[in-house]
Amino acid sequence: MKTIKTVDDFLNWRKNQSGSVGFTPTLGALHKGHLSLIHASKKQCDLTVVSIFLNPTQFAPNEDLNSYPNTLEQDIQDLKELDVDILFLPTTEVMYQGVDDVSVPATPLFAKLEGKSRSHFFYGVTTIVAKLFNVIQPTHAFFGKKDAQQLYIIKQMIKDMNYAIELIPCPTIRDSNGLALSSRNQYLTKKEQLQASIIYTGLMRVKEELERGQKNPIILKQSFETILHQISAIKIDYISIAAAATLDEVVEISNETILISTAVFLNDVRLIDNFIYSSSIT
Ligand code: AMP
Repeated sequence: MKTIKTVDDFLNWRKNQSGSVGFTPTLGALHKGHLSLIHASKKQCDLTVVSIFLNPTQFAPNEDLNSYPNTLEQDIQDLKELDVDILFLPTTEVMYQGVDDVSVPATPLFAKLEGKSRSHFFYGVTTIVAKLFNVIQPTHAFFGKKDAQQLYIIKQMIKDMNYAIELIPCPTIRDSNGLALSSRNQYLTKKEQLQASIIYTGLMRVKEELERGQKNPIILKQSFETILHQISAIKIDYISIAAAATLDEVVEISNETILISTAVFLNDVRLIDNFIYSSSIT
C-alpha cells in the first residue's frame, strides 16, 4: 500500500492508472463496517483507494471534532492487510487551502432528518466528498447504508453534478447484539453498547409489524418508542418513517420504499441507525 498526502502527488499517480478505481472515503477510526466497503471495492474494482480525513466542516462547534477517535496506526495496519492500493491521507490545509466556505448547492434532502438536528452536516459532507471525487476520480464509490440519508444525498449529488461514478450502497455491519458498528461506539462502555443494541431491537420490531401488515406509521413509531424507553439513559432525537425518495414522513405505508430511521443520545453519545423497507421485496 502506498500512502499519498497531497493532491499533486495523487494526481501524478492517478494519471498513470487505467481500469476501474474504487473509492471509500472515511473519517478514520476504522471498524469492520468500513472494512466491508473496502472488501466490496477490492472485489469489484481493479484498484482501491481509501481516504482517511477527519473533515472539520461537517462538525458543528459543539460536536466532537476534537475528541473523535483516532486509531491511525491500527487503521494503516488494517488497510495494508486488505491490500489497499492507495491510502489518501491529506491534511485540512491540503483539502481546503484555507478556504472553508466553498460548498455544493443544497437540495431539499439536506434539511430533513439528520439535517434538522445537524443543519451544517450535509453541507460539510457533500463539500468534502465532491472535493475528494475531483481528486481521486473514482469509477466506483462505496458508501454504507448505515448512513442512509448521506447515501441518498451523495446519489443525488453524483447525478446533479454529472460525476461519472457508480455509487455502490453496502449493507450495515453490526455487532453480534445488533448494534450498528460506528467509530463513535468507542465512546461507549461495554454495558452502554449492550444498552444501545435496543435500537436494533426496536427497528426489528417495526420490521415485524410492517411484515404483519401494520400500515399506520404512528402506531409503528409508538412501538419503537416504547422499546427505546426501556433504557432510561436513552433520549430520542427522532424516529422517522419517511419515503425514501423524498425523506418526507409518510402518513400511510404504501408500496413505495420507505426509510425507517432514528437518532438517539445514549448519555451524551449520538447514535443513528435505520433500515430500508419495501413491501414489494419482502
Ligand atoms: P465514516 O468514517 O463514519 O464517515 O464512514 C465512512 C463510510 O463507512 C460511510 O460510507 C459509512 O456509511 C460507512 N459505514 C460506517 N459504519 C458502517 C457500518 N456499520 N456498516 C457499513 N458501513 C458503515
